[in-house]
Amino acid sequence: MRKKIVAGNWKMNKNLEEGIKLASEINELIKTHTFEGVKIIIGAPFIHLSDVNKIIDKNKISISAQNCAKETSGAYTGEISAEMIHSCGCEYVILGHSERRSYYGETSAILVEKIARALENNLNVIFCIGEILEERENAKHFEVIKKQLEDGLFHLDNNAIAKITIAYEPVWAIGTGKTASSEQAQEMHAFIRKTLSEKYGNEIANEISILYGGSCKPSNAKELFANKDVDGGLIGGASLKAEEFIALVKSF
Ligand code: PEP
Repeated sequence: MRKKIVAGNWKMNKNLEEGIKLASEINELIKTHTFEGVKIIIGAPFIHLSDVNKIIDKNKISISAQNCAKETSGAYTGEISAEMIHSCGCEYVILGHSERRSYYGETSAILVEKIARALENNLNVIFCIGEILEERENAKHFEVIKKQLEDGLFHLDNNAIAKITIAYEPVWAIGTGKTASSEQAQEMHAFIRKTLSEKYGNEIANEISILYGGSCKPSNAKELFANKDVDGGLIGGASLKAEEFIALVKSF
């Protein structure tokens, strides 16, 4: 049975003290609950990872970085390697977020290298894909998503693809307050699963969690998560308040 996941992406928010407070609040809120079958992930900034790792109950929460270097180690000033991330207790890394693709020029070729470094260092990857508004308006969204999957992931073998979680994040919905409708989300998630199944077969495609991201909040999560192919969410803004984030986890 594929995992249900709620992953918070804090982005470049919260100083260290604030981040520790938020992680502690999340940890406190989950103490009295068991979220059967739901994986909770906190995607914190690099400098928070080690501290967050010491605070959280690791039986209930996993931590994720939001990026990693495409190189292994060496003279790359300012970069953070997948090995360093793993050494902080991280189990996941978010790669291919649209903000990284558009602001930092991350191409599929770069992402292929980053994915390799992540997998070599036993990190699971949350791989983000999504179309921009113009592509959707011109009915190019399926084509764009298929190409992002092919170029970013389809070089992986059956064992490696099993370590990938996909986050479908329509770029027009990220941080805009506009959410894909439940029908739009299910339609695209089903398309992603079908594309995976054509490449890897039904059995593997059915095991891959596909998360929705883009202005997902407690008021719309129930409807989105109720869809057959929506296995949870990658959450930006609403992951910055402990109560909202845990309300999302309770939406299943
Ligand atoms: C994100 O950037 O991954 C995201 C989904 O952001 P938000 O929830 O704020 O739209």
